[in-house]
Amino acid sequence: MHNLTYGLFVLSANDGKKLTGCITNTVIQQTSDPLTISVSVNKSNYTNEVIKKTHQLTVSILDESVPFDIFKRFGFSSGRDTDKLEGFDDYKVTDNNTFYLTKYANAYLSGEVVQEVDLSTHTIFIVEIKEAEVLSSIPSVTYTYYFKNIKPKPAVTNKKGWVCTICGYVYEGEVLPPDFICPICKHPASDFKPIE
Ligand code: FE
Repeated sequence: MHNLTYGLFVLSANDGKKLTGCITNTVIQQTSDPLTISVSVNKSNYTNEVIKKTHQLTVSILDESVPFDIFKRFGFSSGRDTDKLEGFDDYKVTDNNTFYLTKYANAYLSGEVVQEVDLSTHTIFIVEIKEAEVLSSIPSVTYTYYFKNIKPKPAVTNKKGWVCTICGYVYEGEVLPPDFICPICKHPASDFKPIE
């Protein structure tokens, strides 16, 4: 599975009181007429809950200039209890009242959910695009580029435990429970490796 290719995106929504969003790597164009994309979102993400209610979302296509801070801001906390845009100005509100990044993204796609597919842990949203714009010519960031050039290398530690290969979260303890889910990126125990 790690050999599949992916981009990285900020997926945004509006719960009626505040703008929120998360990081996703699962945006794919499905048809060109009408222009539709699909995006798969973990059900434990607050953004999933909001999109199910509002049917409105925007995808910012992250580019190679994106710093690790953007992944921390949008990916490592929940919009349930944090304001993801606090102290952040590099965004603009779209026609459907969600938002796109005006920096670190080379384009955005904004639209309405026309269909949902329920998968046990995830929902796939099929989205008809209503608004889109190219923002720069910087190449889109890939998952591989992120691992090589953006994600900090894990710090050397004396702790015994397991490290999440996706986000770097450290689980302290000899045995990692097989049903363990990373509290930060929600990946399963199979994405952890022992600290050496
Ligand atoms: Fe993780």
